[in-house]
Amino acid sequence: MDGYCAVRMKLADEFATAARLYADAVVRLTTANIMPQAQYERCREAAEVAGIRVAQASTAFGEHVSLHHCAAIPAARGSQAG
Ligand SMILES: [Zn+2]
Repeated sequence: MDGYCAVRMKLADEFATAARLYADAVVRLTTANIMPQAQYERCREAAEVAGIRVAQASTAFGEHVSLHHCAAIPAARGSQAG
């Protein structure tokens, strides 16, 4: 089907999920005014790991799209509309 790429959908879903998990981890880390040191370290580490996952998912998505050209209508085709 034109405009549909199953790999892009999968990578986009992973990217979006990773970003949500990262946001959750950052909220947990930053909304508590004060917490035990051990808990703080765990939250900080979780946020860091989640951030790395976002970067990896972003790279995987970007690399696939740039190689496969499946995220947007090519400029030549898009400019013909209207
Ligand atoms: Zn693709």
